[in-house]
Amino acid sequence: MKKLILGALSVAMLSTGAFAYKYISIGTGGVTGVYYPTGGAICRLFNKYYKSATNTKCSVESTGGSVYNINAIKNGELDFGIAQSDVVYQAYHGEGKFKGKPFKGLRVVMTIHPELLTFVVRKDSGIKNFFDQKGHRINIGNPGSGNEAAVTMLFNKCKKLSLKDIKVEQLKASECPNALKDKKIDGYYYMVGHPTANIKDAANSVDIDLISLDNVPAAQELVAEKPYYAWGVIPAGMYKGVNHPTKTYGVKATLVTSDKMDEKTVYYLTKAILDHFDQFKRMHPAYKNLTKKDLLKGFDLNMMHPGAKKAFKEEGLL
Ligand code: GLU
Repeated sequence: MKKLILGALSVAMLSTGAFAYKYISIGTGGVTGVYYPTGGAICRLFNKYYKSATNTKCSVESTGGSVYNINAIKNGELDFGIAQSDVVYQAYHGEGKFKGKPFKGLRVVMTIHPELLTFVVRKDSGIKNFFDQKGHRINIGNPGSGNEAAVTMLFNKCKKLSLKDIKVEQLKASECPNALKDKKIDGYYYMVGHPTANIKDAANSVDIDLISLDNVPAAQELVAEKPYYAWGVIPAGMYKGVNHPTKTYGVKATLVTSDKMDEKTVYYLTKAILDHFDQFKRMHPAYKNLTKKDLLKGFDLNMMHPGAKKAFKEEGLL
């Protein structure tokens, strides 16, 4: 009898779908960056509003960053990921870290916040501009980060300074504030949205400065040549002790997936943000100036996933 009741119970639960959730994962970056809370914000909205409609639960993973995420999507280890728009472009076209291996199945859902290549240094390191870092111990980003990809590109372009002229470190972004405080590094690069907990941590534990990159010829050439780079400014006062604006260049954080992901899931993941945009914007200060139209900027619309297109068309934005 007992057996019979249990049997009936599990059939009932299965038929209501209680045990039949599908799971989707979003690959992000280090926990103190902006990708991780962004993945969290997207999943929270999706799970709150569309878990039942899709019978799907969304979960977020901290990862090595852009390059890792795109490779993991390609290998089927992640369903979605956040990646820098320069890395997205290079992956699709088989350039940079993806040289000779274009990933034509890569699809964009939307872009999210702007990211700026941020050069954080100890104030007492003596580094006042890009060229002063010669001979210093500098973190360029962990392997698999979009960070490392962008910094490598900058140094490759630069005629006066190469990566051989600095002591290259490759710690994870989340380890950098402590390493800076402990004098294990003199500075680190981070392509990230602002404000970020990571640089707040650094500024609160040691005197830091942020170095402008607008006077670096290699940066000027890259911004002029590449469709995915644009100038931006980190306002004065955003981080403790940095009382001047910092002019540098950057990209857009982009939510990506593959052409194998079904239309319905992508459609509802897009709606999670579009239909609850004000709520989304309150979830992180890096989204402060975002408009819905901005979500379509920074990528080639031919790369857009049909599920995302459908949701943007319904909003009258496409
Ligand atoms: N843009 C960084 C990267 O791809 C990650 C930034 C973040 O986690 O917010 O390496």
